[in-house]
Amino acid sequence: MSTVLATARNPYDITLENFDLAADTLELEDDIRAMLRHPERVLIVNIPIRMDNGRIRRFEGYRVQHNTARGPAKGGIRYHPDVTVDEVKALATWMTWKCAVVNIPFGGGKGGVACNPKELSHGEIERLTRRYASGILPLIGPEQDIPAPDVYTKPQIMAWIMDTYSMTKGYSVPGVVTGKPVSLGGSLGRNEATGRGVFYAIQSACEHLRLPLKGTKVVVQGFGNAGSVAAHLLDTHQCYVIAVSDSRGCIYNKDGLDIPKLMLHKEKTGTVAGFPASEPISPRQLFALECDILIPAALENAIDEDNAPSIKANIIAEAANGPCTPEADKVLEAKGCFLIPDILCNAGGVTVSYFEWVQDVQHLFWEAQDVYNRLERVMRTSFNDVLKFHLDRKVSMRLAANMLGISRVAEAIRLRGLYP
Ligand code: NAD
Repeated sequence: MSTVLATARNPYDITLENFDLAADTLELEDDIRAMLRHPERVLIVNIPIRMDNGRIRRFEGYRVQHNTARGPAKGGIRYHPDVTVDEVKALATWMTWKCAVVNIPFGGGKGGVACNPKELSHGEIERLTRRYASGILPLIGPEQDIPAPDVYTKPQIMAWIMDTYSMTKGYSVPGVVTGKPVSLGGSLGRNEATGRGVFYAIQSACEHLRLPLKGTKVVVQGFGNAGSVAAHLLDTHQCYVIAVSDSRGCIYNKDGLDIPKLMLHKEKTGTVAGFPASEPISPRQLFALECDILIPAALENAIDEDNAPSIKANIIAEAANGPCTPEADKVLEAKGCFLIPDILCNAGGVTVSYFEWVQDVQHLFWEAQDVYNRLERVMRTSFNDVLKFHLDRKVSMRLAANMLGISRVAEAIRLRGLYP
């Protein structure tokens, strides 16, 4: 299922298409435009590891730094069979705009390894992670490029990267990655930061649309870190999460799923499928459900021209990166759906990663409520900044977010005089 979704369109082509549209609307200078259409650095690494059966198997990994005009590169690492260099370039580019939209002092980076972690043992994942970390060592560092978790990478993987980097220095360097376990210099609130940020963005959108949040019907595609936390917060605010999915199944209950119990079920069985008090549905049926809020929280290209016409939600909250193709955007805009674009909607993750990095550098750690309050402020300010562009310039929310991010990066480039 995921293979079909993730390979439907080259995500880097989509990134450039959206960039060109924003650059044209901003009337961006040609020289800055040429710089921003290409990443600063692309590293491809060979990762040979010894498998549990004693044989050596080779994997390929990537680290891309798209732009560092505003600060060190920042961005997650993805382990997935469909990872390609173009996907990582797209994700790194989105990170550049995203960090600028939430106004944190980072540029955009991303990494990935083409592998299926579900088929690897704990030991094989550790050896793969350490070998990948040593491969990308020339690029990473707390002042250079700071990785974080993404699809199928967890705090334990960040701990191994931190350890591999620290071994080369001879002392502990917690600031080299974020999304670490709290006992290793991680931040309280980082694990749920993306989903919590999605929740604040949805709250802001409901206020703008004068739609009471309480009682809304919600559908979530991808019940992983981002999707499950957003679902849980909405559930605690008396919304009805009527359907969710993961790579192994889609489930539905018209009266709302019991989200805390579903989280335990997923933890125990590894999937949402088979949850009691729910009925199985198809991915196509999931997107076509009658609901107020649809949260795509899995992979790129989940919503395209094929399934967009069936969508009935008022609000599309993009917890995933790049879940809607440009063709789907047109269909959804024509239907009057209110879009909270990915580089705004899921920016809670990188925002709390920034907080974690600040805490590591200062060796001074904050309470969870402090993290939540600061995150809420950042999300609400950024939402209003994007909304203002959307209303003042009469452009779509996606174009507004891209224009805001790109204009801040372009300003940094002009001020630094980074081009001749
Ligand atoms: P995750 O690995 O925790 O969860 C991904 C979930 O998606 C899993 O439950 C998986 O089963 C499901 N999935 C995969 N293919 C699917 C398909 N075809 N249909 C339905 N479900 C499918 O990953 P995550 O961290 O929650 O990331 C999800 C999305 O959020 C990605 O696009 C990621 O880039 C984005 N994101 C994550 C963070 C973060 O901090 N984790 C930050 C910003 C954006």
